Amino acid sequence: MEKFEVTILGSGSALPTIYKRPTSQLIHYSNKYYLVDCGEGTQVQLRKAKISFLKINHIFISHLHGDHYFGLVGLISSMHLLGRVGDLNIHAPKEIEEIINVQLRASYTQLRFKINYTFLESKESELVMEDKNMQVFTIPLKHKILTNGFFFKEKPILRKVKAEKLKFYEVPHYEIQKIKEGADFVKPDGEVIANSVFTFPPEESRSYAFCSDTAFREKIIPIIENVTVLYHETTFLNKEIALAKKTFHSTAQQAGKIAKQAKAVKLLIGHFSARYEEKHHKEFINEVQLEFDNVQITKELNTYEVN
Ligand SMILES: [Zn+2]
Ligand SMILES: [Zn+2]
Repeated sequence: MEKFEVTILGSGSALPTIYKRPTSQLIHYSNKYYLVDCGEGTQVQLRKAKISFLKINHIFISHLHGDHYFGLVGLISSMHLLGRVGDLNIHAPKEIEEIINVQLRASYTQLRFKINYTFLESKESELVMEDKNMQVFTIPLKHKILTNGFFFKEKPILRKVKAEKLKFYEVPHYEIQKIKEGADFVKPDGEVIANSVFTFPPEESRSYAFCSDTAFREKIIPIIENVTVLYHETTFLNKEIALAKKTFHSTAQQAGKIAKQAKAVKLLIGHFSARYEEKHHKEFINEVQLEFDNVQITKELNTYEVN
């Protein structure tokens, strides 16, 4: 099984504190790295996590509140200083291009690499990135300004073949790929040999959903259904539910409801309001567990497997 994991670089909310940095996460699949959000301090956190900036080719920005992207120009600038030449792909609301350009222009910086933008404007979920192993879909969220979460979906995993059976039935080489994809084998005399004779059952493909920032929004359920690991913001506890509604954020219990309805395997939470301290953590867990058991509070620089 390929490595599929997420490292939390920052899991605080709007105001950075000495304990929490603003939002940023690094998704790692096999030898690829995808950055989701890039709050202030992301570069330093990447350094601490010992990740080379140059390994990141795709950056996804949920929305343009500063706690989700104020680190981006700094990171781009460092990539430039480190001699990057390969294209960088940024998936973000359209204003991002102007924001980056004005800062580069003011410092007379001429990047040696190209930035390819995908502007996220649709109110429907859309496929925004696809490579050999992964598809990334937007999750339109409900926040004060246009906001998307991201759904990382591993492509269907090929079946492992039984070499001795391939040999026994004299399966030609060019048929093997189709068999790995699930096809039956038709012998030259027309007899059909079922795929299960040649292969082991395929492993289930895994997925990771990032949902921040958002008010409670059940509309996202069909997009993230059966997600393996769901990260959902929990800015507030129940006693601040009115404030959650007003500021378009979620409570811990609401995140639990989403995880339950989406039949997630595991829920990670974060983006707590700066009013809460470590002593409140148990309350966050308790309120989530009114709905959903398998929950963990994200800790910065911790890595969580998507399994
Ligand atoms: Zn935020
Ligand atoms: Zn926000």
